[in-house]
Amino acid sequence: MRYDIVIIGGAIVGSSIAYYLREEGFSGSIALIERDPQFAHAATTLSCASIRQQFSIPENIRLSQFTLKLFRRLTEEFGADADIGFREGGYLILAGENGLPILKANHDAQMAEGADIVLEDADALVRRFPWLSAEGITAGAYGRTGEGWFDAHAMLMLFRKALRSKKIDFITADVTGIERQGDRATSVSLDNGETLEAGTVINAAGPNAGKVAAMAGLVLPVEPRKRNVFVFEAREKYADMPLLVDPSGIYVRPEGSVYITGGAEPEEGDGPADPADFEPDWPLFEEVIWPVLATRIPAFEAIKPTRAWAGHYDYNTLDQNAVIGPHPHVGNFLFANGFSGHGLQQAPAVGKALAELIVHGGYRTVDCSAFGYGRVAEGRAFRELNVI
Ligand SMILES: Cc1cc2nc3c(=O)[nH]c(=O)nc-3n(C[C@H](O)[C@H](O)[C@H](O)COP(=O)(O)OP(=O)(O)OC[C@H]3O[C@@H](n4cnc5c(N)ncnc54)[C@H](O)[C@@H]3O)c2cc1C
Repeated sequence: MRYDIVIIGGAIVGSSIAYYLREEGFSGSIALIERDPQFAHAATTLSCASIRQQFSIPENIRLSQFTLKLFRRLTEEFGADADIGFREGGYLILAGENGLPILKANHDAQMAEGADIVLEDADALVRRFPWLSAEGITAGAYGRTGEGWFDAHAMLMLFRKALRSKKIDFITADVTGIERQGDRATSVSLDNGETLEAGTVINAAGPNAGKVAAMAGLVLPVEPRKRNVFVFEAREKYADMPLLVDPSGIYVRPEGSVYITGGAEPEEGDGPADPADFEPDWPLFEEVIWPVLATRIPAFEAIKPTRAWAGHYDYNTLDQNAVIGPHPHVGNFLFANGFSGHGLQQAPAVGKALAELIVHGGYRTVDCSAFGYGRVAEGRAFRELNVI
């Protein structure tokens, strides 16, 4: 078999690339290869499914703004019954005295991109959110519109369903090897013994992207990092509660009638995860997260944890930012990797960007040049400061 484009990984990033390739008019053959067709272990379905504009880098803000626009015209794009349950609840990122200069600089960058974020001091925040304790807080940035959360599985299914009528070959298999001849990737080998010749290979393998790149003899500093999400019930229901990020890095937000929380994984021991380890670390909740929640929202002193899950970030160890575009020497091997915790909200924009690059030879909607592999080769970080 020969395909013009072989995409490795069929979750949100791979599906979005396939979708926009067809939208941009690509008429060649496309194979979308996925080893876990239920997406039981994909970062996409294990994520917290939130979208924000509160990034430090304008390019990241623009990627999210593209997706936000898509969310606002979802039925136009995907049909009248398209619904991902988008709740525009906002983010509230809190800072103490030390974090204030960064919060302000980020806010300036967000305002320059037209985001609807207000920066308020502690008193104003408590007036706005009377359930909040301002202990140790100097200011906070609150997204009045354009930020919130949604159903990740529903979003993935929208793209996957749309692909059914777009002449894409869905292949259920594990990619076990990538062959190269000099500066070209020529084929991929599958665990079922088949080999697919490829005109272009796209790495959309999420947390496994570093390993997939290595199959082609390429270095990509992306590894799985385990991240826990805990679900709890509380008597108090705060309908106005945004996704709150404490200066400690711990976040909490409503999810229907319950709440979810996580963050602040200890730096010590935060290395590459065992790809098979999806066991939640309950001590993290009891010893680290709960005390912070009870301080920040006193009513959360009495909460009932009910369940938890763990997923893997597609963590870029260089700078916690995406790597997008071709390898400088192996030009038919493209990356869409390393999103480090914000890839779900960036996937539609990245799919569109890569499709434009392939079909038109350049980025048209969101310029992703700054995310190019060149910086990896040079060891030059393009750092996002707001990694949650
Ligand atoms: C706990 C948690 C919370 C998160 N919260 C958010 C959030 O609130 N907002 C946000 O924007 N992002 C969030 N993220 C990050 C986001 O989920 C990811 O950045 C995004 O889903 C990456 O999408 P992907 O398609 O690249 O990766 P994945 O969803 O992991 O998909 C990669 C796919 O590739 C397949 N694959 C891998 N290797 C092979 C191979 N060799 N052969 C065949 N198939 C292969 C895998 O089976 C998988 O299905 C979170 C992530 C986690 C873990």
